[in-house]
This record gives sequence, C-alpha cells and structure tokens, in this order.
Amino acid sequence: SSLKEKGYAPICLGLEDFYTRRLYLRIQDCFSRPISSAPDAWFDVVERQSNDGNKTLHRTEKSSRCLNLGSYNYLGFASADEYCTPRVINSLKKYSSSTCSVRVDGGTTKLHEELEDVVAKYVGKPAAVCFGMGYVTNSAIIPVIIGKGGLIISDSLNHSSLINGARGSGATVRVFQHNTPSHLEEVLREQISEGQPRTRRPWKKIIVIVEGIYSMEGELCKLPEIVAVCKKYKVYTYLDEAHSIGAIGKSGRGICELLEVNPSDIDIMMGTFTKSFGSCGGYIAASKEIIKYLKYTCPAHLYATSMSPPAVEQVISSIRVVLGEDGSNRGAIKLQQIRENSNFFRSELQKMGFEVLGDNDSPVMPIMLYNPAKIPAFSRECLEKKVAIVTVAFPATPLLLARARICISASHTRADLVEALKVISKVGEDVGIKYFPVEPMKP
Ligand code: PMP
Repeated sequence: SSLKEKGYAPICLGLEDFYTRRLYLRIQDCFSRPISSAPDAWFDVVERQSNDGNKTLHRTEKSSRCLNLGSYNYLGFASADEYCTPRVINSLKKYSSSTCSVRVDGGTTKLHEELEDVVAKYVGKPAAVCFGMGYVTNSAIIPVIIGKGGLIISDSLNHSSLINGARGSGATVRVFQHNTPSHLEEVLREQISEGQPRTRRPWKKIIVIVEGIYSMEGELCKLPEIVAVCKKYKVYTYLDEAHSIGAIGKSGRGICELLEVNPSDIDIMMGTFTKSFGSCGGYIAASKEIIKYLKYTCPAHLYATSMSPPAVEQVISSIRVVLGEDGSNRGAIKLQQIRENSNFFRSELQKMGFEVLGDNDSPVMPIMLYNPAKIPAFSRECLEKKVAIVTVAFPATPLLLARARICISASHTRADLVEALKVISKVGEDVGIKYFPVEPMKP
C-alpha cells in the first residue's frame, strides 16, 4: 500500500494497462538516466524531479552518489588506475583522441598493432583484429565470414549484435534452444549427417554462434559440450566473449580457461573491451589466414575510423595488469575479488528468496521481476535508497520476463555488497518479488 500511495500502478496489469501513458512514462524514466562521474563501485546519478508531479516536464536536476550495481566494470578498470591512467594520458598527448582515419590509411598506429598482438596472445589465438565498437564487430564480421548458401545456427538468446550480423549476412538462420547442446545436435542433424563430407553438404558453410556468458541470463555457456557437437559434425564455432573475457578464468582468459576448452577448438573468438578492460571497442581473434582475410575485406576495417588511441592504450595496460606485467599482483587480486564478490552476492540473494538466474562465478545476476509493472517500483525504490540497479525489459527480454540485472565488480567492497543486499531485500519485499520465501529458522 505504501507503494500505491507513491503512485505506482497495481502489479497485475494487462497489456493495455502497461501501455497507459502514466506507467509507460514511469518505466521510461528508469532508463537512460544520466551519470555524472566514472562508473566505479559508487557513481553519481542525475536525479530528475519536477514540480508538478509529471516526470517529463519542468525538470530540475541534482546528482546523488549511488552504489553502482549496473555497469559492466567487472575488474574495476573503469576509473583512475595507478598503472593504466598515466599511460592513457600519455597516449592522448602523443596520438590525440582520434586517428581521424581508417585503418588502411593513416588509422593504424603502433598502439593498434601492439593491441592486436597483446589480444591474440591473451586469448590464445595466432592473430587478432580490433574494431571501434563491440556491436559493430559482430554485426560487420558475420556477413563477411558467411553469406547466401551458408547456415548459421544461433543460440536462441544471442545478443542483438549477433542477430543483426546473422540477418545481414543473407545466410539461412536456425535457432537452437538456449544453451542446450542436445538441441543444437538435433538442429544440425536435420541439416546434415555425421561424417558427411563438407563438399557433399547442402550448405556452403555452417557456423554455430554462442556467447561465453549470456548477458541477460548470467549463465555460462556449456562450451565443452557445444564444442564436442561442433567437432562431431565438423562445423565452425563463433564465440562471443563480451561478458566473459577478463571476468572469469584463473587468469581472466574467459570461458575457455574456466571450462578447460582449448582455444584452438574455437574457430572465431570475439570479445569486447567495454566490460572487463574499462575501454571501448571489440576484437576478433582467429587463425592468421582468417584475420588477414578480414583485414582485406571487412568494410568496418576498411571504411571506419580506427579505435581511439587512448582507448587502445587502456586495453593494453589493463591486460598487462591482469597478467601481472605491471610488476604487481593487483590483477590476480582483482580476479579473485570478482569471483568471491559474485559468489557471495548470488548466494545471499538466493537465501533471501529471490529468483536469481545464472551460474556461480558469473558476475551477471538477473533477479526476476516477471511483470513489467514491477520495473519502475523496484528500480526507483532502490535508487531512492542510493542503490542503482539496471532493469531489463521488452524487447531485450520477452514481455513478461522483466528482470533487474545486477553486475558485480571487483571494486565492490564487502561492506558495499552487504549494504546493497539490505536495500534489495527491503525493496524486494515491498514490490513482492521474493518468489521463494524463506521460512524463518525455528528456534
Ligand atoms: N556482444 C554481447 C554479448 C554484448 O552483451 C554486447 C553489449 N553488451 C555486445 C556484443 C556489444 O558490445 P559493445 O557494448 O562493446 O558495443
């Protein structure tokens, strides 16, 4: 009732109610909130208020310091760092913030070449090529490696950039049930038979596309089983490590390291620099032949301005820290911290009775809200208590599978996490999202 007094809509709504202007504006107001600081463990969120109760008109703005449970700052590199920041500033002074040129003209600095060597070595592939944006890496590369007459078999919950690339390629796209290797095999068996020579197949090429950690589910890919199916049917694998590279595995080398898959068993490894490494851009790592081919043919390499040099330097130096090449053990501590923080937070949320998706070790933790009407109540009530949490709704998820998506960082302290848990527990009770109520212990 206290939430109703504050003007939140009742929880059980049909679609028509959901789209009433009032609730729609309330939901809209939970997204695109401006930030006025670095996205560290705590950050400044701009609060917009109005005098007449209408959230869109006559706004006044003030910032408030909030605990940040929403950024993909897995290793805490998205703020000033004693090793990375001076190097990034030097690269800004030396190269400026933009190359103002495409890679094949004046847009390849020595830093870009160094980055590609560092990334290839880090992920365990012979070569790599980098792009200015992670999204574009997927959407521009997939149409270059496969086209009409090819078959893409895509996990049903793959990211929008992968879907975009697959659709734009002109290849036929089939979808397999999310993270279900047995269904992948079923879909493959409908198209080809085991042992059928590649030249006798009805498809010019077959590529299976999966992610290392699913960003809306917090789930680890069942990579060993998926690789086994791909090997059995001799099809290519494309792995998007946007959320897993740097975040999991003993030395941060992602899902392959964590689940002991040899990188040579993955044909194309893709990842982004926007999460664990606190920068921007994306990479493809593969055989020397594939990378050479991409560098000659991919329009995003030939016709787009190259990555900003300071962003490049940020990635090089943060990978050095992760590997201990800065002469400290900060990298190892960060990796241990993110694992401990993630596992602590997930198990505490579960103990409180929330429905939390995902696997241990994953720093991505969706708490199910289900009904979209719960989004504004949950999001704003947490923010009022100085905890900023991202809520995810249609079309990023099915309409009735709305969720709050928590991202844990190595830079969260135990005290930060305990404080966040208190707030989430209280708001969760008020909003009614403790779907597995825990019986109080009997004395
Ligand atoms: N792939 C996946 C799985 C993602 O989650 C994202 C974005 N979060 C991207 C690609 C796009 O990366 P970027 O944000 O670096 O453009």
